[in-house]
Amino acid sequence: MNCQVKDELVSRLIALNNKLNLLSPDLVYGDEERAEVQQQRESLYAEIKHHRAKGHEGKPCPAARQV
Ligand SMILES: [Zn+2]
Repeated sequence: MNCQVKDELVSRLIALNNKLNLLSPDLVYGDEERAEVQQQRESLYAEIKHHRAKGHEGKPCPAARQV
């Protein structure tokens, strides 16, 4: 089964991962930006976890196994 909400969350996570990969460790202000992206990623993880557990009116996501 597919879930559009899950797909949306996962694509946002992939975008953040890509952004993180693009931040070179050599950048002077890279640390701060990296920390910010890490934080966004963590809250997105929490959101995905919540959605998987009870994102469908209190019920688990039918597409959870694909996350
Ligand atoms: Zn779902």
